[in-house]
Amino acid sequence: MWDVIVIGGGTAGMPTAIFAARRGAKVLVLERADELGGTLHLSSGQMSAAGTKRQAKVGIQDSADDHYDDVMRICKDTADPTLVRLAVDHAAETYDWLEQEGFVPIEGHPVLGHAHEPYRTRRYYWGPDMGRSILKTLLPLFQAEVKKGGVTLQLETTVTALVTDARGGVTGVRAKGKDGKEIVYEGKNVVLAAGGYSSNGALFKELSGHPQYCDAAWKYALGDGLNLGKSVGATWRGAEQYLCSFGAVLQTDTIPAKILARPIHHPEVRLPWEISVNAHGKRFVREDVPSVDIREHALLRQPNLRHWLVFDDAIFAAAPPVLVDHTREQIAAHFAKDHPMFKKADSLRALASAAGFDPANIEATVAAYNDAVASGFDVLGRQHKPVKIEKAPFYAIRVQGTSISSTVGLGADEQLRVTDAKGKPIPGLYAAGEVLGSAQTMGGAFVGGMMVMPALTFGRLLGQRLLQWSATARAAAE
Ligand SMILES: Cc1cc2nc3c(=O)[nH]c(=O)nc-3n(C[C@H](O)[C@H](O)[C@H](O)COP(=O)(O)OP(=O)(O)OC[C@H]3O[C@@H](n4cnc5c(N)ncnc54)[C@H](O)[C@@H]3O)c2cc1C
Repeated sequence: MWDVIVIGGGTAGMPTAIFAARRGAKVLVLERADELGGTLHLSSGQMSAAGTKRQAKVGIQDSADDHYDDVMRICKDTADPTLVRLAVDHAAETYDWLEQEGFVPIEGHPVLGHAHEPYRTRRYYWGPDMGRSILKTLLPLFQAEVKKGGVTLQLETTVTALVTDARGGVTGVRAKGKDGKEIVYEGKNVVLAAGGYSSNGALFKELSGHPQYCDAAWKYALGDGLNLGKSVGATWRGAEQYLCSFGAVLQTDTIPAKILARPIHHPEVRLPWEISVNAHGKRFVREDVPSVDIREHALLRQPNLRHWLVFDDAIFAAAPPVLVDHTREQIAAHFAKDHPMFKKADSLRALASAAGFDPANIEATVAAYNDAVASGFDVLGRQHKPVKIEKAPFYAIRVQGTSISSTVGLGADEQLRVTDAKGKPIPGLYAAGEVLGSAQTMGGAFVGGMMVMPALTFGRLLGQRLLQWSATARAAAE
């Protein structure tokens, strides 16, 4: 009988095991992959935490209360207040612990960051190797607990079912090893730390209403945790909070496709010279609006979550390159290859036909934009309008709104107990990480660092407190 069975040895599962073992628990970690780390292999690893020692060292006054207010401001109060509170209240101690164990952020961190709607204060940190910097810190700590005998790790082992008792409490798991044999492991507590579902196209579509266009998530982010939870009565929540990013250029027209490049759409980094048009050949957002959240929500309302950057030869020659880490010559090479995402033509109508957006409207759209350049007044309020779009050839780059994390997750309470449709905890079952869904910690927005940090924080908290929490729950039930 194990004290704790952890399903998934990734971002949340590793700290759960480390801290539970340090408190004397006998821990079994079952991991589907042939290595530990999960999404940390791919993640940008950007974390937010307030009231850290590093902030104090550089004179930044910050607090969990301010962090909480900022998260709720950015997501417009759509996240789960209980879980956000739990995450931010314990983020600083988790971040400080990482640094104490050897994690070193990039010089000059914390920063405000610009990829997402910025915080009011510098509380955003990541390492030079992004998610892997965190993994490098966690691995030796995990291995030390394995060596001491507190943690038993089984790789290439997929949990296929939860085992329950007559009262519906979870008492173990059924898992398939690499020999294909199914074994039942009995446990006093089971932690679902199996990640999200962003690599499961069918489930992603069912829950978001959109295809999973982008292949960027961990290969085993297949929704196993959600399905295991559901099988014992757990509720799923958050679907209405789905949001896509303002987009990436994909490598191919297949679904899903890998990311080829990212447009620089943050006006504080590069002001836009191009216009963005939707499938109707119409502009749909002020391209230089400072709020990335406004741009993302505008794209969410467009067909296929897609837009095209349209520009002319004069802009191509004069503007700074529009794609991250690309020279003008590298961008020209994509057009020369007739790449599905890069189209060039001698007229706007021909460009629209080649790229696949509405040719009937594009001339009117560009004419209206050119008038705005001449008059200085743009109906969408755009400020930066350096030149008209009028010199052939014309260019279009297709940009796809993408998602790399999973919005929907299992209901859970302030002790990270998985809950049913009535909000009642399912005995013996806990959850941490993306299996809780991004909607719980970010709501209907992308809030910087509010996935990786809560996954680590909740994992660490469970490791520290789960034995005590579950003993109290058992005593109350008897
Ligand atoms: C490209 C990318 C960039 C990102 N950047 C950021 C960022 O900068 N900041 C941020 O806050 N968030 C970011 N995220 C999100 C964040 O990294 C994840 O939400 C977080 O790492 C997930 O942690 P987790 O423990 O829930 O899942 P994981 O770390 O994926 O761990 C889950 C583990 O469970 C295993 N597993 C799955 N099913 C089973 C099963 N049936 N049996 C046994 N094991 C199983 C998996 O193999 C995996 O190892 C990013 C995500 C991606 C994909």
